[in-house]
Parts: sequence; C-alpha cells; structure tokens
Amino acid sequence: MPELPEVETIRRTLCQHILRQTIEDVLIRWPGAVKGWDIFPFEQEVKGRRILSVDRRGKYLLIHLEGDWSLLAHMRMTGRFNFYDEHREPEKHTHAVFTLSNGELHFTDTRKFGRILLVPTGECSNHPSLCILGPEPLEDDFTPKILGERLKRRNAALKIALLDQKVVAGLGNIYADESLFRAGISPLRAANSLSRKELSALHDSIRTLLQAGIDAQGTSFRDYRDANGEKGSFQKALQVYGRGGENCYRCGRPLIKLRLGGRTTVYCLHCQK
Ligand SMILES: [Zn+2]
Repeated sequence: MPELPEVETIRRTLCQHILRQTIEDVLIRWPGAVKGWDIFPFEQEVKGRRILSVDRRGKYLLIHLEGDWSLLAHMRMTGRFNFYDEHREPEKHTHAVFTLSNGELHFTDTRKFGRILLVPTGECSNHPSLCILGPEPLEDDFTPKILGERLKRRNAALKIALLDQKVVAGLGNIYADESLFRAGISPLRAANSLSRKELSALHDSIRTLLQAGIDAQGTSFRDYRDANGEKGSFQKALQVYGRGGENCYRCGRPLIKLRLGGRTTVYCLHCQK
C-alpha cells in the first residue's frame, strides 16, 4: 500500500504533467471506483474543468479543479495513477480514464479498494476521511510533544497505534516498522509507555525515514509505481520490513516476524527494547 512517501511521489510526478490541463473527457469503466456518485453526475461535474493544483493529506491525494470541485483519491492496496502523453488502451483493471488536453490520466487498481471521490473543495478539510487525520509528520507543527500527546491515551501496542491515521497521518506498515527499528523501540511496547527520550528518538526516526523515502521516490516492494510508471528505490534501504527470519544488520541475530493487529511486523528482539 502506498504510504506517505509514495503518495507524495505520485503527487510530484502528477504535478509534472497535469497542472493547468483541462479534463476534456472522463470514462468510468467501473463505477465502484467513484463510489458515492452516480456515474453521470461525476462525469458531468468533472468534464471541462481545469486542474488547478494537486495536494496531499496523509495517504490521500487531492486534485483541485476549477469551479470549487476536488477529486479526493485514496490508492489503498494497489491503486495507481498513470499519466500518458498519448492515447493508451486501458488495462483490464483501469477503472477511470481522464482525457486531458495534453494526454491521458489512468486510474488502475487490481484489488479494487482504491477510490476517487468528488468533493466540493471547501468541504475537503471537513470530509469524514480527512478531518479525523492526525498531524502531518513532515510539517513543523509535528513535534515529539505532539506525538506523545497522540499516544498518551492508548495502551495498545505501539506499532498498532502508529498505523492509526488519527495518531500520525501517512504512516503504514513499512515506515512504521523501519521507524521503530531506527529508534530502537519494540513494536510491542504499550503506546503510552514511552519516555521523553524515546518519543524524541521515534519522532526523529519517523521524519528522517519518511523524508528518505520521498528522496528515493518511494518503496516499490510489490505494486507501487509513480505516475510515470517508475519504481522507487527505498526498498534497497529497508532494515527490517520484509526481512523476517533474516539476520539483523545491526546485531546479526535473526529478526522476529509476528502478526500484530492483523499486520505483519518485523523487529529485532535484541536491538529494540
Ligand atoms: Zn538487532
């Protein structure tokens, strides 16, 4: 699933192509992808509008159109946007094709969990999916103190709390496991048990790794590609994610792999306390 660095990379690659372009036509091949609207109003409202900007909030992309409409998109497991500068036949799982003045934007999603919703721009921040989100971890107002406050009332395992988008927006399984390893904190610790020093280390690790992920154009572990169809390269820098049973790069002992809150978690029993 694309996490913050991957969605940010998609945003940046989309911006290279679609800003100030007009959506000349929309083809919805599977109406479930634009759930919440009848296929006709979605197409009617989107057609003919110019794309003004592309923003991100957590793992959501916001494509702002003129006329105070925005497309609120979540890639979920396997969703992806691809820009092509010429006509391209849709793939089997391409659910929406936006014909722009300078090419085509395809939304493709094998697992069909991704969604593109049409939302009035003024209501975006109040949208039920966005208004519950925690702080943006790369913004200046995300501090160790804020992280501590968000974790304070939770006695669930720390890893589970970090995946909760209400605690921090944009973290997923990859960057949560990597941040905990870098900070030397066990994913099994109670979320509200961290000392000030540990909160500071975790805060620093989250920010450092998310920024490193963006700098590497994301992690392409399985499906992820940016809007140009390119893979990221952060998978080469992973220390624990996907390495269960292999030796820890720091201490050489085998990494532990377990299920936590329904998600696979990998950590080092020796290096993470
Ligand atoms: Zn270790």
